[in-house]
Amino acid sequence: MIIILKKNPDPRQVNHLRTWLRDMDLEIHYSQGSSTSLMGLIGDTSGVDLDMIKSLDCVDDAKRIQEPYKMVSRRFHPEDTIVDVCGVKFGGGNFPIIAGPCSVESEKQICFIAEEVKKSGAHILRGGAFKPRTSPYSFQGMREEGLKMLVKAKEATGLPIVSEITDISQIDLFKDVDLIQVGARNMQNFELLKGLGSINKPILLKRGLSSTLDELLMSAEYIMNEGNPNVILCERGIRTFEPSTKNTLDLSAIAYLKKKSHLPVIVDPSHATGSSDLVVPMSLAATAAGADGIMVEVHNDPQHALCDGPQALKPEVFEKLVESINNIRPFAYEYKY
Ligand code: PEP
Ligand code: MN
Repeated sequence: MIIILKKNPDPRQVNHLRTWLRDMDLEIHYSQGSSTSLMGLIGDTSGVDLDMIKSLDCVDDAKRIQEPYKMVSRRFHPEDTIVDVCGVKFGGGNFPIIAGPCSVESEKQICFIAEEVKKSGAHILRGGAFKPRTSPYSFQGMREEGLKMLVKAKEATGLPIVSEITDISQIDLFKDVDLIQVGARNMQNFELLKGLGSINKPILLKRGLSSTLDELLMSAEYIMNEGNPNVILCERGIRTFEPSTKNTLDLSAIAYLKKKSHLPVIVDPSHATGSSDLVVPMSLAATAAGADGIMVEVHNDPQHALCDGPQALKPEVFEKLVESINNIRPFAYEYKY
């Protein structure tokens, strides 16, 4: 971090700042120019509040040179992290496909879709039971019953399962869920993130609707900082001015996140586009751009789905998508750091 001091600052304030920084175990390199003085801070500055420093009377400006995160950073962990979900590996050149309906609707529905996606080559079954909906009048998910049905589909197919948690009080209900999803709306629910940091299950962390990539990484840092290293990042589209798609898929997120972090990065083209005919091309684009996997919504009867029908692929389309992904994978961009 570099702190630029104002011209002729009050020496008492500067001394006070120096003492405070030294108390934080930071080494200070002071350089006095003819018009400006700089303080270069060496050490772990992740606990330093940049806005607070900038607000001091003696400070003109302050800038971070290093990222504010440590545990998620490639700088501290150059090798790709591989997250293992019951033998399905994310990261390190693997490409798992997560598929299933937006929501669990009945045991018959989830078991049927599970068989279909397994046949086509999916590695993990998804199904929401606690649904964070914009309207309180929309289907809210089958909650505990839904999770039990999802577990039945896991037992029938052998596919590991992923489902979204919306509050840490639900954690006991997720004991048989193999990968716990934090949805876009909860990406900055810091108490939830801290709670999930102290368990030893892998976490699928989705990017918030209007969150920057560094904010996503800081949220992953919350989980890792509590002791859980098994975090998978998920780009799922962000809000932009473009109304033609539900969200805008930020493909550059893959390249940026993989450069900055060792964590696996997957893409959810279903929520990113909101439209089934856009899901296939965006899945292939994400594959080519070097994502570590994708998560796609699949429904046997999208027109009657209780949630997100317009973006759901029919099983036969999903089957073709898996084939196309497998054709593209040998040409996908490989990140080497
Ligand atoms: C979901 O995966 O079902 C979901 C609600 O996604 P997001 O949190 O990205 O909107
Ligand atoms: Mn959905």
